[in-house]
Amino acid sequence: MIVVTEKCVGCATCMLVCPSRAIKVEGKAEVIQEKCEKCKKCLNYCPVEAIKWVE
Ligand code: SF4
Ligand code: SF4
Repeated sequence: MIVVTEKCVGCATCMLVCPSRAIKVEGKAEVIQEKCEKCKKCLNYCPVEAIKWVE
């Protein structure tokens, strides 16, 4: 699953690129796991590498 670490600076880039609208940002990003389709697109766009994939 996708997790957001404390490195997140709240830029909302991940929210904008997520095709499933599975990320909300209120100060920091949060993944709505039920909506996430695990495409991993957000991983590639975070400027501070705050998003991780964990099995
Ligand atoms: S893995 Fe894909 S669907 Fe899941 S939060 Fe990231 S961009 Fe959205
Ligand atoms: S792209 Fe990275 S830094 Fe920006 S809101 Fe998403 S997780 Fe946080």
